[in-house]
Amino acid sequence: MKFDLHCHSHYSDGDLAPEALLSLAEQRGVTHLALTDHDTVAGLPAIIAAAAESSVKIISGVEFSCTWNGQLLHILGLNIDQNNESLIEGIERNTNQRFERAEEMHVDFEKHGFDLRERVQQLLQPHSVPTRPHFAQALIELGAAKDKRQAFKRFLVRGKPGYVAMQWPDISEIADWIRNSGGVAVLAHPLRYKFTRSKLVGLIKEMKLAGVEGMEVSTAATDPQQTALLTSLVQQHELLASIGSDFHSLDQPWALLGNAAPLSDTLTPVWSRF
Ligand code: AMP
Ligand code: MN
Ligand code: MN
Ligand code: MN
Repeated sequence: MKFDLHCHSHYSDGDLAPEALLSLAEQRGVTHLALTDHDTVAGLPAIIAAAAESSVKIISGVEFSCTWNGQLLHILGLNIDQNNESLIEGIERNTNQRFERAEEMHVDFEKHGFDLRERVQQLLQPHSVPTRPHFAQALIELGAAKDKRQAFKRFLVRGKPGYVAMQWPDISEIADWIRNSGGVAVLAHPLRYKFTRSKLVGLIKEMKLAGVEGMEVSTAATDPQQTALLTSLVQQHELLASIGSDFHSLDQPWALLGNAAPLSDTLTPVWSRF
């Protein structure tokens, strides 16, 4: 069995259609795949339908944007019921915030002399949510950045053109939506926030009280030392452990689908709850 419980389709900032994502999972030997687009479940029906004739088991998922102490966190909802009313309300709230932010980003870019409206519009699929990587791609096409990395240095981040400060829902609201729909809430890529260890422990304690029951331990980008740290934190705080590549694109070889190491046997995997 090979689990990958974190990836993106073109319904958010991934390159591939859900059907292509499923084929890739088959090719790469993934047996259990969760599609976790940013603040949307619009890609789930297509991947579930495509998987009816496949050996890959699909787990319904979503990656919520969250604000904690003024900082952006990502909380995954795994094994959710995407038809649950409470979950749908939460998704609509975040999706609406994304569209409002995109408009503010356009206005800010215009102030700085960049008109990205048409390019961003063309990059969006009919039902996909706007994300910063869409703006990054538009900036590359305009010649204002050579790649996404540079686009996220010169633009889109605090203090740079196109940055819009966001107040996303807090941890407990998001955990409630996920739990109300029968899912498990999991902190995504805990080391990407660059918190000190004591701040990370503070977050873990607070999120547990709020109903977040798991944490990603193995991602495509974690080295053995980081995995050891996350493994000990999960054990200490009695969390469920998850695995996710955070795959977005074949152009990002450092985060390929299925490319996250298995969990230590000492951990309780999040799928024990599916
Ligand atoms: P958003 O959720 O719309 O604010 O966009 C955040 C997404 O941008 C993340 O999920 C990443 O996929 C992507 N991202 C953030 N920083 C970078 C970066 N430096 N280079 C490439 N992609 C990035
Ligand atoms: Mn992303
Ligand atoms: Mn994320
Ligand atoms: Mn992600």
